[in-house]
Amino acid sequence: MKKEHYQFAYKVYESFSELSDDDKKLLKAAQDAAFLSYAPYSSFNVGAAAELENGEIISGGNQENASFPAGLCAEGVVLAVASSRFPKMPIKTLAVTYRSEKHESDHPIAPCGICRQSLQEFQDKTGSTIRLLLGGLTGKIYEVDDSNSLLPLAFKFERRFFPSLCC
Ligand SMILES: [Zn+2]
Repeated sequence: MKKEHYQFAYKVYESFSELSDDDKKLLKAAQDAAFLSYAPYSSFNVGAAAELENGEIISGGNQENASFPAGLCAEGVVLAVASSRFPKMPIKTLAVTYRSEKHESDHPIAPCGICRQSLQEFQDKTGSTIRLLLGGLTGKIYEVDDSNSLLPLAFKFERRFFPSLCC
């Protein structure tokens, strides 16, 4: 038996003003998307914006539903739209932010577990890593070079697990 270790490094910016112009633009697009999200139940409005390899920016907000499992995360909305409009086009950077009437938006949030799994599959599909930019409306901003860093030992589909599936 041996013990394995896992660690990753990420950058911390003290404020929005430290970002590059491109990153400011992308995080601003995510902030704008947070204001267009639909979150009447949680009042936690998440916005995400992706810069694709072709330069397109796709943004979206979380979409809740009275039947809670039916809701969509902002990251999931963006991945679905990006994949539908530009199949297999890599995402260079995904910015995620939030606002709330109940809480200050002054620290970064990170994608939920389901979104981490979706990001991992999106990366596999496009063969390109996704850089994350995570921040609130104010405060520090985290930069993660590879979204897979947030999902060690990720579940991956292996056909041998599902022998009844054809093709
Ligand atoms: Zn999520």
